[in-house]
Amino acid sequence: MVRSQLLARGIAHRRTLAAMAHVPRHLFVPASLSDAAYDDGPLPVGARQTISQPYIVALMTQALEPRRGDRVLEVGTGTGYQTAILALLVREVYTIERLAALAETARERLRGLGLANIAFRVADGTLGWSEAAPFDGVLVTAATPSLPPALVDQLAPGGRIVAPVGDIAIQELVVGVRTARGLATRHHGPCRFVPLIGAQGFEGA
Ligand code: SAH
Repeated sequence: MVRSQLLARGIAHRRTLAAMAHVPRHLFVPASLSDAAYDDGPLPVGARQTISQPYIVALMTQALEPRRGDRVLEVGTGTGYQTAILALLVREVYTIERLAALAETARERLRGLGLANIAFRVADGTLGWSEAAPFDGVLVTAATPSLPPALVDQLAPGGRIVAPVGDIAIQELVVGVRTARGLATRHHGPCRFVPLIGAQGFEGA
């Protein structure tokens, strides 16, 4: 997976590649799909949600420019796969999921892997986690019509936000960096995520 799907497509960030080689992705998919766990695509994981394609996880992680001392907010815990990758790369991960059952399964899985630097919350992640802010990075793993203002507000100076921005059918990966003059954004090409549902996402989608 790392060689043919990530390195071959230009993922160059060494620590991201090492984390992706380390985390056992088959533990994050339903047992019936474990043969497909390392395939080049997203997979259904129940509750109408998906685990993202390995390449997209790597692309978003690399775009976040994770550093060892960072504190990072993830919106959309899902299976916890992206959470696990982040937990290996930064000091603390704060992750929010709106569906309690998914959050609980992810929490048990990540504890089972011995990852102890993760805080979980069941809530509407479009509002962020103000008590734990500011964050060096914010990673949104569900499609949003625009960058949720609360998440941008909770970025530290120099902090990065990575999110799929667009409509329900198709989005573009947007990377924003908080500078003294505001948010500087770059676009990283198309992607497709399940919707972010909340006060600053797709309401009730
Ligand atoms: N990162 C995940 C994939 C996430 S799929 C993984 O690696 O497995 C998107 C997730 O975002 C879903 O679990 C969905 O329930 C969740 N979600 C959608 N809207 C949300 C919101 N407002 N706050 C928190 N989580 C949300």
